[in-house]
Amino acid sequence: MLTENLKRYLEAAVPIIYVNSYDDNAVEESILKATGYRKVWEWNRLYGALNRKDVHKTNVQVVYEIISDGCPLENFLINGVKDREFDRKVIILKDIASYLDNPDIVAILKTACLLIEQGELDTVFIFVASSLKVPGELEKYITILEDEYLTENEIREEIMDFIKENSVGSVYGGTIEKLVTAFKGLSLLEIETILSLAFRDDGTLSEDAPDLVLEQKRQVIEKAGILEMIPLKEGMDDIGGLNNLKTWIRNKARILNNMKRAAEFGVELPKGVLIAGVPGCGKSLNAKASAKLMGVPLLKLDMGRLMGKYVGESESNMRKAIALAEAISPCVLWVDELEKAFAGIGGNGGAAEVTTRLFGQFLTWMQEKESAVFVVATANDIMKLPPELMRKGRFDEIFYVQLPRKEERQKIFEIHIGKRRPQDLEKIDIGKLVEKTDGYSGADIEGVVKEGIENAFINGKNAVTTWDFIKAIDSTHPLKEIMGESIDKLEKEYKERKFKSAS
Ligand code: ATP
Repeated sequence: MLTENLKRYLEAAVPIIYVNSYDDNAVEESILKATGYRKVWEWNRLYGALNRKDVHKTNVQVVYEIISDGCPLENFLINGVKDREFDRKVIILKDIASYLDNPDIVAILKTACLLIEQGELDTVFIFVASSLKVPGELEKYITILEDEYLTENEIREEIMDFIKENSVGSVYGGTIEKLVTAFKGLSLLEIETILSLAFRDDGTLSEDAPDLVLEQKRQVIEKAGILEMIPLKEGMDDIGGLNNLKTWIRNKARILNNMKRAAEFGVELPKGVLIAGVPGCGKSLNAKASAKLMGVPLLKLDMGRLMGKYVGESESNMRKAIALAEAISPCVLWVDELEKAFAGIGGNGGAAEVTTRLFGQFLTWMQEKESAVFVVATANDIMKLPPELMRKGRFDEIFYVQLPRKEERQKIFEIHIGKRRPQDLEKIDIGKLVEKTDGYSGADIEGVVKEGIENAFINGKNAVTTWDFIKAIDSTHPLKEIMGESIDKLEKEYKERKFKSAS
């Protein structure tokens, strides 16, 4: 797709094509295919000015001739434009992003664009950069092309080609389909590398194939820098209580794990869930456990990372984040502290307007989403959330978590003591601890368990007793005491809005 778009814009002779991508290999491949046998010069920071001479399309490699070793970008541009050396050429500018802060470079490029517009210079510039910076002066001359991911069909074709070319023995159809899903979001080169590592001669896959894929995906996500891939540790059994929410998620996981059959049956793909509630009561834990239960990667969307300082940069980052999540899907996309992410919506001024646009983008995507990206959004203070977000059709359900009730506290104590001191669990009077922890959050209880165990160790004991935990309880201030009336207010609000109780 990128190749076709590049070809189209090269033919349309737009002054600047800005390829915004972090996948250098894929971009290089596309540029090579799109420019074909045109005259192409390149500038990059390492070598300066290059003539991309001999293009071997099939091998995806270029033979370079250095025109001016280490030539600074400014000189390259000035000479090229003034002396019309750029005429009838495509000029690739790599590593360009940081130079777009430089007013001299921007001014030269602007002059070049004016000349192109007037028909006095026949040149197309291709910018290649992993971040998007569009200086206001160049905005109207720039066409932005962003990363596009391979479709399932393209991935399948690539796998079949690989199998044929490498004479891998007969491969089970189910294995191929599993690989197609696993490879979503990866580039051709990455897929080829994994395939050559993962396939044995007899057509079976090595045991570490899923780990190779996961590791590659983690790198793809890390390179993009807009989403974070969270390692999966906690599962549903690590959550005490919240049974309604857990049952609901288990049901949705059943659909996501059997997508094909569910679709044939007429079931729609779940969109996601909003979990609101007081801090430290298991909201994040549920996001993590959902991904583990579904057996898919957990991607965290941090709005702070999306915000850029250039025109359109934040929106472009949001588009990229969504495209990446869709490419990696099936996955869980976790939007933490939703109320902070979209704070300032509807306000005046640059930042507020950008946030409003980002919010609009997110809403439209949620509304129209047809991919297997299951969104888990968590929020502490729903009063700060825009009401549009809570309308039906965005999330499948909205749950609220409260401070854990008696039987939930019992479970949370059992989980946390069981994790750290399973040998002492039986002798501990958990009922007593439960009585003394009304108003404690799950995180408070975890804190009490940690402190009790630590104290027993410091005092040289062989085992932890109920007494150690009681001492820890006496020395902590529960969340209810710290948050005071605001907890009651929040809970009243949830009930009035008819959110479902997670417990
Ligand atoms: P915040 O809004 O502050 O992010 P949160 O509701 O997302 O809070 P979590 O991060 O899920 O809270 O919980 C913090 C820690 O407290 C967890 O890592 C876990 O150890 C413990 N915890 C909270 N609730 C529970 C629970 N229901 N069962 C077991 N552990 C819990």
